[in-house]
Amino acid sequence: MSKQFVFLGPLSTGSTIDSELHCKFFRNMLALVKNGSAMYGFCPLASGSKGNCIYLGTKEAKILIDAGLSGRAIKERLALINVDLSEIDAILITHEHVDHIRGLQVLGCRMGIPVFANGDTAKAIYDFLHECPKFKIFSTGETFEFGGMEIHPFSVQHDAIDPVAFTIRTSAHKLGFCADLGFATTLVSSQLQECDYLYLESNHEVSMVHASNRPMVYKQRVLSRQGHLSNEQCASLLQELQHPLLKHVHLAHLSSECNAHETALKSALMALNHAIPVTIALQDAPSTPIFFG
Ligand SMILES: [Zn+2]
Ligand SMILES: [Zn+2]
Repeated sequence: MSKQFVFLGPLSTGSTIDSELHCKFFRNMLALVKNGSAMYGFCPLASGSKGNCIYLGTKEAKILIDAGLSGRAIKERLALINVDLSEIDAILITHEHVDHIRGLQVLGCRMGIPVFANGDTAKAIYDFLHECPKFKIFSTGETFEFGGMEIHPFSVQHDAIDPVAFTIRTSAHKLGFCADLGFATTLVSSQLQECDYLYLESNHEVSMVHASNRPMVYKQRVLSRQGHLSNEQCASLLQELQHPLLKHVHLAHLSSECNAHETALKSALMALNHAIPVTIALQDAPSTPIFFG
């Protein structure tokens, strides 16, 4: 893979997100991929409690991290970045919650795309699907190689059987993908050091959870150490992780009811002293793509 890196600019380095700018930017990006540039880089296709899926492609392999939309929706969103579903070589799974595995019946069982998961998660997926995709079992905490990428799954605190986040080293970059965690342990913070790109959960604003009409059991779960990372927790983790080579941050898995894009952005940008571009990984559309040259 070329060492050259082309980043096509942030959607927002200020405190507000501009949807006009987003649309224009995304149209420009699509024009570029339709002009023949393959999508080498990564692009969150969906992020949030209704479904999660990230595309990552290098010249050697194209993978998904989670497959939490329907097979059809994943196919449609991949088409927007000029990738055909049949080109996907593997799927990495973080944990068995349905917003991360909804598409596996089609992608894993029917299409036969290999599914990388740890043993307990694979068993939970089998129990859910009543069908067995072609599993490739990894051990949490042990690095493995796929398509020229060094993939390291590490434990996170979340109410699933053996949830993980990933760091992935390509030939030129270290990427950190970390969502669905109730608490950033020292393990999380140490694993995510020195990433060039971070995809990090910023799920809720605590005051908005308390003020919401959600049932108490929901509030307790979200706010617990096995739940989801708040804007404040995300900001304090970003302060620990900021370093001169960090190039971009995606804020992930935002709650539609208990967060707001501007609130999450403001919190993260303040933590980073507005020095690094931050964008939201959206639920209903692909988000800011990061291109490897
Ligand atoms: Zn989730
Ligand atoms: Zn989850």
